[in-house]
Amino acid sequence: MAYDVLIDPGHGGKDSGAVNSASGILEKNLNLDAASSLNFYLQQRNVTTAYTRTTDVYPELNARTAQGIREGAAIFVSVHHDTADGRALVYHDDKETSIRLANKVASYMGGIPVRSMTESRFGRLYIADFTTGPSILIEVGPTRFYTRDERIARVQPAANAISDFLGK
Ligand SMILES: [Zn+2]
Repeated sequence: MAYDVLIDPGHGGKDSGAVNSASGILEKNLNLDAASSLNFYLQQRNVTTAYTRTTDVYPELNARTAQGIREGAAIFVSVHHDTADGRALVYHDDKETSIRLANKVASYMGGIPVRSMTESRFGRLYIADFTTGPSILIEVGPTRFYTRDERIARVQPAANAISDFLGK
C-alpha cells in the first residue's frame, strides 16, 4: 500500500549512533523520540506514514530504503542526531526533488545548513538507495538531553515543511 512518508529513525539495536559519554544518552533513542513526534505532526496534516523501526532494533540500511521502494513511499525521511556538540542540518541525495525538499525543511527549521550527502563525513549516505522519490536525512540536533518542548520546536517545523512540499 502506498503512502506519503517512510520515517526512518536512524541506527538502533547493536548500533547506538552517536553516544554522549557525559550523560550516557544514545542517539538511537533520541531518533525514535523525534521520529514519533514527526509522525504525530505529519498525521495531523493528513500525511500518511510508515516507519522502518519503532523499537530498539537494527534494520539493515539497504532494507530500510528497499522497504520504501517496495511499499511505494513517496518520500524517505531519515531522522538522526549529531554528536553531543553537533548541530542541526539536512542532507539530501542527488535528486533535484531531494534538494528542493531539503531546502524547504531547512528553511522551516530556522535556516539550518543544507548539505549534499557527499559532504557527510560518512561519505555516500544510504538514503541515496531510495531511488523512487525525494530522500533526505535530518540531523535534528545534538545528542544530549532536551525537553519535550524543545523536541517539538525542532520537529514540528520539519513536519510542516514536508506537508507543504506534498501539498497537504
Ligand atoms: Zn546518526
